[in-house]
Amino acid sequence: MNSLEEKESGYIIKKIIVPHCQRGPQRCEKCKQMAAEKKICLLQIYFKSDEIARPVIEVHKDGKTQWYEFDVLKVFKDEKEAKTYAKKHAIKVQFPLD
Ligand SMILES: [Zn+2]
Repeated sequence: MNSLEEKESGYIIKKIIVPHCQRGPQRCEKCKQMAAEKKICLLQIYFKSDEIARPVIEVHKDGKTQWYEFDVLKVFKDEKEAKTYAKKHAIKVQFPLD
């Protein structure tokens, strides 16, 4: 098993609330709409933080929970599409998706 820490970034599939902008659901109507529904997404996770302030996400790894910065690369329409993609590209799926 290779250590994820050795790489600068990796990919996971997880069901999340897709962030819209920095303002957040309190101040942005679009954020509020998006916060109401979680979507299954392909995420690029950054193990090393850089200057860019990205949103962070909880990732369960080796029995521990850690927070990493991430970008949303792709939004899947359903779980089936996500699973097919994960299998094809050997991407870790974070279960449960919800
Ligand atoms: Zn917004």
